[in-house]
This record gives sequence, structure tokens and C-alpha cells, in this order.
Amino acid sequence: MVGTGPAGLTTAITLARHGIEVMVVERRATQSGLPRAASVSTRTMELLRSWGLEQEIRAGGVEVEWKQWVGPTLTAAGDTHLTSFPTREQSAVLSPTAPASVPQDHLEPVLLDHLRSFGIARVEMGTEVVGLDGRTDDVQVTLRDVETRETRIVHARYLVAADGARSTVRDALGIVMRGPGRLSQAVGTEFRAPLWELLGDRRYCIYAVTHPEAAGVFVPAGRGDRWVYGVEHELAQEPSPSLTKEQSARLIRLGSGRADLAPRIERIGTFTFAAQLADRWREGAAFLVGDAAHQITPRGGTGMNTAIQSAYDLGWKLAWVLRGWTGPQLLDTYEAERRPVAAHNVARSADPHGGARLAAQELPADLGGRIPHVWVRSRADAASTLDLLGPGLTMFTNGPSAAWQRAASSIPGPPLVVHDLDAITARGMGIPRGGALLARPDGAPAGWWPSGTEPAAVLRDAIRALPTPSETADRLAEGAYAR
Ligand SMILES: Cc1cc2nc3c(=O)[nH]c(=O)nc-3n(C[C@H](O)[C@H](O)[C@H](O)COP(=O)(O)OP(=O)(O)OC[C@H]3O[C@@H](n4cnc5c(N)ncnc54)[C@H](O)[C@@H]3O)c2cc1C
Repeated sequence: MVGTGPAGLTTAITLARHGIEVMVVERRATQSGLPRAASVSTRTMELLRSWGLEQEIRAGGVEVEWKQWVGPTLTAAGDTHLTSFPTREQSAVLSPTAPASVPQDHLEPVLLDHLRSFGIARVEMGTEVVGLDGRTDDVQVTLRDVETRETRIVHARYLVAADGARSTVRDALGIVMRGPGRLSQAVGTEFRAPLWELLGDRRYCIYAVTHPEAAGVFVPAGRGDRWVYGVEHELAQEPSPSLTKEQSARLIRLGSGRADLAPRIERIGTFTFAAQLADRWREGAAFLVGDAAHQITPRGGTGMNTAIQSAYDLGWKLAWVLRGWTGPQLLDTYEAERRPVAAHNVARSADPHGGARLAAQELPADLGGRIPHVWVRSRADAASTLDLLGPGLTMFTNGPSAAWQRAASSIPGPPLVVHDLDAITARGMGIPRGGALLARPDGAPAGWWPSGTEPAAVLRDAIRALPTPSETADRLAEGAYAR
């Protein structure tokens, strides 16, 4: 694994959770202290919840409603608009969790600690990949100690390049990025100031101010009064504009509408908006994931979420192959299944109006074709159907499950756990009395059967031909899972 950003850590955790030993190298000596992503989506939170990390993640963020506020200054009258993230009320129906406003520099250390807790991951900070020789059955990687400049060679069965937008591995593999690399540029100022006091009960995920001299966005960046103020510029402005601390403080005062505000400026950085996709995400035993495979502008808040969800997809598929639960052809489905989602989010982020889309438009991309969330009535521990998904296959039945249990224990393949649901929960899942639904670890349905089916025969076929989510989506459209 190359990189301890969200993509690298998610892949490594998913492998470690399956008992696979993994080596992770990271160029930086310590993790990044930049807040960057602050919008953690519903599906990403569902994955973090499934690892027991939901509370730890939320502890580093702020409680907000998923609406954008727009006004001339933070203290003037303004309007609120819905975003592509569901509101609290929508989340309560859709999911056992909800999006979180948490900065990336809180999320990453939580993920790294979780990875280390398995005791089977070797994490080498201050170590970079400087070259590789990829063959079909093995990858030879040249590593360099950033401090001593000493190099050494390691061999890996698979290599996952989660080394970000300027991926060394991608370049070494000769894979090119397609799409605009420079759409616009932005200056972000990280600062501390008591803005929540000004905002009172107007607690939202983003504030767009339209003041003629200070048009930009204020985004909460974690607990307390930590904020980011971002201003986007046309590319025509060359060289790339930046701001001094005094200029930033002045703009923040104007945007806040409080001439007496004294923001403490902590950091000012510039970044370029790009909307690109790598030509291909795999070369032999090397895979690209996250920003190495796609660059998504911050518009709509999907870059990290796409990275984490693709990394989870790659992680469980690699683990299944390495555990011998399935053949290596499963790895071909990684790009086939995740590329359409990334392409959608790349295109959306390049659209100047992409940030204004609604949850009804964007939830299909975030949630994918996962099984529905239904609270399981027969359990006392407030478990969702999503909480029952395991690392192998999970079967949900409605009514007597002995025949399904017998079939599940006799068929070779990934471990298969059967949950016999109460009638109302099963009804919410679209499982008729006597029927069954089979799901992959990511919740994508892998089979649905009415009553009267012969369990052993249909299960064997389903395991042999695990469907891709696009097939699943087609079948969902046909109503196959909703009868
Ligand atoms: C201002 C801003 C706001 C954003 N807001 C959002 C948001 O609200 N929601 C959202 O979903 N996304 C957002 N994003 C996007 C998000 O930050 C990225 O998509 C995310 O960081 C991608 O994760 P990654 O793990 O793929 O790459 P990275 O986070 O870039 O991690 C790559 C890692 O690889 C390491 N590395 C690089 N080269 C090597 C090498 N040769 N050897 C070893 N290690 C190497 C790097 O040091 C780095 O730690 C935002 C981005 C910015 C800039």
C-alpha cells in the first residue's frame, strides 16, 4: 500500500479486517495537518460505523444541518438551500447513520490507529516509493527512506497505489489522466474565530457569502472555532493568487460582517481544481485508488468519499482473492463497478452548478445498490440490516431458515452467515415468506429468491456468478429485489 491518505488507510483496514498482512509506506513523517475534506457522506459513515468508529469520527466534528446558507455576510439576512447530503429527517429514514462534518485531519489519525490496532499491518512513515517493476504475478517496488535517502527493494503480491493526485506509481506504470487538469484555482485560509457565536442556531455545513469584495465560502473545520475560508479565482489570474495573513483577515472580517472580528490565521494555501480520470486503474498486480485514479474538485464534497468507497471495494475483493474465497477474476470487477461512480462525481465536480444538486439526485451514486436499511425488530440492540453484513456473504431469510443454513454450510466459497429476520423487517427488505436475499460485504445484493426455491442449487450458482452492482442496479430497476 502506498500512501496513508483516506484511500490507503481504508484499503489497508479492509485487508487487515480480513486477516491479511499488509505493508503501508508513506512519504510524510507524520500525517497531514490540513483539514481538507469536511463532508463525510452517508455511505462513508455507514462503512465507518461498520468498523465501530462512528462515535470516534463524530467526536472530531461539529453538529450541522446539511444545508448551504447564502447571504451577503454571515451576520446579514440570508437564505438556506438543500444540498446533495440528506437532511437529518431524510437520514433518519435512509440509514442507521448520517453524514458528518469532520475534517480530514481528524479522520485520518482515527483510521491509522484503527489499522494499527489489528497488529498485522506494518506502517512505515517517512518511506517513499521511487520506482517499480510490475509483472503480472508480482510487483517489485523500490523504496527510499526520505531522511537517509537509502533505498531497498521489496516484493509484493499486489500493490495498491493510494499515493494521491500526483501519483508516482501511476506515472511509473505509464497511466495517463484524462480531463481538465486546471479548471480554476482557489485560496484556502484556515483560521480560528468565534463565528458560531455570530451564527447562533444557524448551524450549516457551508456558508456562501456574496459580499462584492469578499465573495467566498466559510466551512466549519472541526471542533471549536476552527474554520476554512475559501475563495475561487479564474485561471486568467497568473501567477496563482495567494493572500497575505493581513489580506485574509480583512476578507474574513468583511465576509463575517463584523469589523471588530480578530481571526487567528493559522495557514494559507492554494490549490487547483481538476476533474480527471486515469485511463485505467490497473496494470497487472498494481491498482490505482483514490485521487491517484481520479481528481475531483471540492465542489459537491465527493473526492474523499469516492476514494474511501472505492478503497473499501478494492480491499474486500483483494482480501477474498488472497484468502482463496474466490478467483482473481473478482478483481476485474473493481474498476468495472467503481469507475462509473468516479466518472459521475468527476463530471459533477466540473459542473459550476454541481454543488447545487439535491440528495434525491446524488444519493444513488453515494449509496449505490446496497440493501435497504431497516431496523431489525427482533433484536434488542437497535441493529440495522446493514449492521448484519459480514466480511463474507450474508443471507437474510424470512421464515424457517434451516434449509438455507444447511445449504450455506455445505457450499465452498466465502463464509456465509444466515440471519432469519422477523416478518416486518423481511418485508422492508422485499423478502417474501420462505424466500432469501444474499448480500456481499458492501451490501450489494448477490441473489434474491422467492419461496419454494431449492437452496443448494441457487446458492451455488449465485456464488459462482456474483453480480456486479450495475447488473444489480438493472435488476433493481426491474423490481427484482422489491417484490
Ligand atoms: C480544500 C479541499 C477540500 C476538500 N473537501 C472535500 C470534501 O468535503 N469531501 C470530500 O469527499 N473530498 C474533499 N476533498 C478531496 C479529498 O481531500 C481527497 O479526495 C482525498 O484526500 C483523497 O484521498 P487519497 O487517499 O486518495 O489521497 P491523499 O489524501 O492525497 O493521500 C495520498 C498520500 O500518499 C502519500 N504519497 C504520495 N506519493 C507517495 C510516494 N511516492 N510514496 C509514499 N507515499 C506517497 C502522500 O504523502 C499522501 O499522504 C477536498 C480537497 C481539498 C483540497
